[in-house]
Amino acid sequence: MRIEESIKLGFKDVLIRPKRSMLKSRSEVNLCRSFFFKHSNIFWKGIPIIASNMDTIGTFNVAKVLSDFKILTAIHKYYDISDWKNFISSLPKEKFNYIMISTGTAKKDYMKLKNILSLSPLLKFICIDVANGYSEHFVQFVKKVRMDFPNKVICAGNVVTGEMVEELILSGVDIVKVGIGSGSVCTTRIKTGIGYPQLSAVIECADAAHGLKGHIISDGGCTESGDISKAIGAGADFVMIGGIFAGHVECEGSMVQENNQKFMVFYGMSSKYAMCLHKGKVDDYKTEEGKVVKILIKGSIKNTIHDILGGIRSTCTYVGATTIKELTKRTTFVRVFEQENKIFNNH
Ligand code: 5GP
Repeated sequence: MRIEESIKLGFKDVLIRPKRSMLKSRSEVNLCRSFFFKHSNIFWKGIPIIASNMDTIGTFNVAKVLSDFKILTAIHKYYDISDWKNFISSLPKEKFNYIMISTGTAKKDYMKLKNILSLSPLLKFICIDVANGYSEHFVQFVKKVRMDFPNKVICAGNVVTGEMVEELILSGVDIVKVGIGSGSVCTTRIKTGIGYPQLSAVIECADAAHGLKGHIISDGGCTESGDISKAIGAGADFVMIGGIFAGHVECEGSMVQENNQKFMVFYGMSSKYAMCLHKGKVDDYKTEEGKVVKILIKGSIKNTIHDILGGIRSTCTYVGATTIKELTKRTTFVRVFEQENKIFNNH
């Protein structure tokens, strides 16, 4: 047994210190960033936010809206090939840039991935997603996908430590997905005791990835636009969002009506609810690691996007960053014990 004594931080443990700025207005901030991906040799330009591949977030309808903003959507893995055919046939060429195909690591997942990719050469992002990115089987799967698809951008995770980020990048991953236990509907930390505070995970994993010219996604734990800014400030190249995007009309979730109000069901992908929905049962050897919540319907996701982008632009003006890349360079975190004045929180 060993205890690591250095303190690890989450988003709620820090604030970003304001700095002198030459910016006159938030409109001067450009949130698009250009990337060159190491293994696939692909250039990409867009706003580095990704809708999570959860089945009520990474939907075709969400992707149609987010692509207008040059934001990526990791399409969940539960659509079948005919759904994909319909979606692709109606998708304008330029929108393919903002679509990621999610896959698990089973044989049938691989076959499906291959079939989806064969539908259009314009599909360029693959997201290999497992809850525990520390397994050797996962690394072997990543290597196989890299060998078979040398020209696709591969994202893979989830992990939270530098040595595993390095192993994945050396195995062919362009963008490593970072975060274990930080998600809004995740109970992994309670059920297993496993986890890593998200801000520290991002700082450490970004350092490891950037040393090898790789990139990372901060996945999970953002509750407001300020957390997205903090993740970028900490070194995340991309930020993946679940809960903030939940409950919108484009999410394709089940609706329930209570007391004349409409709610949408939102749940973790490892919740009993999700396992029963997609597999018909929870296997005997498993426990659920996700929860189910009901969210008051929020309207179109467009409004939330405007709100989030406005928030990040404002962060940039406070630290004098004209681009999102500059935000990382100009970030100094201060450790805090309080975030906000809560006097009116219950009103
Ligand atoms: P959020 O933005 O809601 O805080 O986090 C979204 C992320 O939570 C997802 O992208 C995924 O990595 C993670 N996640 C989704 N469902 C579950 C679950 O049931 N269990 C766990 N451990 N993580 C989940």
